[in-house]
Amino acid sequence: MNLLETPIEYLKGVGPQRGDLLRKELGIHKYADLLNLFPNRYIDRTRYYKINELQNSNSEVQIVGKIINIKTVEQGKGRSRLVATFVDDTGQMELVWFQGQKWIRESIKINIPYVIFGKVTQFGATYNMAHPEMELLEEHKASLRSAMQPVYPSTEKLGNKGISNKVINKMMQQLFVETQALFSETLPNYLLDELKLIPKNAALFNIHFPKSQDLLAKAQFRLKFEELFFIQLQLITKNLIRKHKIKGLPFERVGENFTDFYNNHLPFDLTNAQKRVLKEIRNDLGSNAQMNRLLQGDVGSGKTIVALMCMLLAKDNGFQSCLMAPTEILANQHFNGITELAKELNISIKILTGSTKTADRKIIHEALENGSLDILIGTHALLEDKVQFHNLGLAIIDEQHRFGVEQRSKLWKKNDIPPHVLVMTATPIPRTLAMSLYGDLDISVIDELPPGRKPIQTVHRYDSNRLKVWKFLKDEIAKGRQVYIVYPLIQESEKMDYKDLMDGYESISRDFPLPQYSISIVHGKMKPADKDEEMRRFSEGKTNIMVATTVIEVGVNVPNASVMVIESAERFGLSQLHQLRGRVGRGAEQSYCILMTSHKLSNDSKIRMETMVRTNDGFEISEVDLKLRGPGDIMGKQQSGVLNLQIADLVKDKDILQLARHHAIKLLKDDAPMEKPEHAKLREAFIELSKKKTIWNYIS
Ligand code: ADP
Ligand code: MG
Repeated sequence: MNLLETPIEYLKGVGPQRGDLLRKELGIHKYADLLNLFPNRYIDRTRYYKINELQNSNSEVQIVGKIINIKTVEQGKGRSRLVATFVDDTGQMELVWFQGQKWIRESIKINIPYVIFGKVTQFGATYNMAHPEMELLEEHKASLRSAMQPVYPSTEKLGNKGISNKVINKMMQQLFVETQALFSETLPNYLLDELKLIPKNAALFNIHFPKSQDLLAKAQFRLKFEELFFIQLQLITKNLIRKHKIKGLPFERVGENFTDFYNNHLPFDLTNAQKRVLKEIRNDLGSNAQMNRLLQGDVGSGKTIVALMCMLLAKDNGFQSCLMAPTEILANQHFNGITELAKELNISIKILTGSTKTADRKIIHEALENGSLDILIGTHALLEDKVQFHNLGLAIIDEQHRFGVEQRSKLWKKNDIPPHVLVMTATPIPRTLAMSLYGDLDISVIDELPPGRKPIQTVHRYDSNRLKVWKFLKDEIAKGRQVYIVYPLIQESEKMDYKDLMDGYESISRDFPLPQYSISIVHGKMKPADKDEEMRRFSEGKTNIMVATTVIEVGVNVPNASVMVIESAERFGLSQLHQLRGRVGRGAEQSYCILMTSHKLSNDSKIRMETMVRTNDGFEISEVDLKLRGPGDIMGKQQSGVLNLQIADLVKDKDILQLARHHAIKLLKDDAPMEKPEHAKLREAFIELSKKKTIWNYIS
């Protein structure tokens, strides 16, 4: 039997009680789990401090000295603390214990040299260390010691129950003794050679007992690579299996609608990026496999027409398609845009949202079921059970991050044979995340804006400069342009936000008075019909200014609007700011984004403003966002399971991830079943890992 499978309580020094704690607090069930408990950080214990060098610095120090006396000090209410006087040749300090006093009192040796380690605090003239780690100097010298001392993840409960970092350290030593530190290699030799990775044994040893900074770095690199490499193997294998197993609906023909549209009705030349993406999609649709593709393209990059052309392909092959958007406004806009684009073609398009009337619904349901409806556009309403397609061939989802996993799989189940799925997102997902979360998806990127667009100029202004900003808006309006002014809306403070919006609206109405100026307002508390009416007035150019909460965040398209003012910009996240900014710059005019904030800004807010001012590149912005917020926050809890990494960090280890993905693809191209003799170990480890860790299943 593999020794590493031994239950943790059998490790000498653990036992049932500690075993229980380790299981509950750290999820350590067996030897292997302990072995894979990697330190959070390391402390340099090469340096010994003298007592007269101590400072109130809150850092951990190590001191050699002796205890010259020890006493119990009553604190009242039956409580006491144990206080020892600790001296070296430069001075004296106090050591203090609140817990385990009896045991400490009995085990401590007076006048024998100790090495103590911990944080010091200053009380008046004396320094004091609570619950120090202690070791007799003699043992300290003899023990297996390295320059870098690991600090393991822990919990309050573990600490309270006496499982200190030192105890975990001891367990780890014991583990290495019992297993004789013989851990089998998991990566093929040629990979170790090519990437100059240290062997598994050496890596595990040095991650727990680093002999030097250099070896520690090598150990970390090797283990991070391994972790990410196996995840990539899993994701890519899954993709291969899906392509192999799940037969796609055959879209073999490029038929009359697509060709007619392409040759006669394109309102503009497609950008090269649009052409490339269409080709990628057509390849998928024409192959025997089911398409599961993520289409990333910054706001305004022209995803809509790509979506339409895919739906035309579906129609040409005798299939229906649907396009699902997260909001009613956006669904409407898609419907209007696509109807307009396709007006010369003989295809039937309908829209279904929460506010579709019952009578219309009936007609839509019928047309869907008898196959006379080609394209259905809508919101979540498409997911209702009543919505049954005759033969759904393609499902397109816009702005995917707003839909949950379950919702997506619901769409999937609307057919016996799953439809092709195209997920469009305007919020670029950092490449690292895309690679780790969507590694089993194919990804297309529209990385080019339609020609003639001038990059949006972004500035950051403080509230105190408002007069100048207003003057600028008036100049723009005088040139015939339109302006958005957006207020934050955050659920928790909805009332306050609403007040801010209304106050803002009032003062804007004063500063931009009728009849010279006219203002639209849109917010969440309005009836949908009123909202639409206001939006319509603005998009028809009847009003100069649109005051709004973030309901306009997605999808609104008013090419003549050239200025976006974002109030309290510090309260918006980066991706939201970028989305909002994307509402302007849609016409040929120079467009502007003005970020208004107060003077008081947190560091993160400053970085957000600077980033927005510096770049229009959604990918760059998403990378900064990832750094500021971390992967869990960006992708939402349900999707962050994959990100429970043992040692690698998606933000810091981007390059290693890239490397791991590259080599995983290469390996699977060469030997997908991992059958070659040199992959035997790898395969074994891979199967073992797949049993334990199922990567979140995209298509479920
Ligand atoms: P998004 O990717 O944000 O959904 P849209 O599809 O709404 O972008 O396109 C934004 C605007 O750009 C629309 O007005 C659309 O008509 C226009 N557009 C799209 N592709 C091109 C192109 N190749 N050349 C010129 N204009 C384009
Ligand atoms: Mg769009």
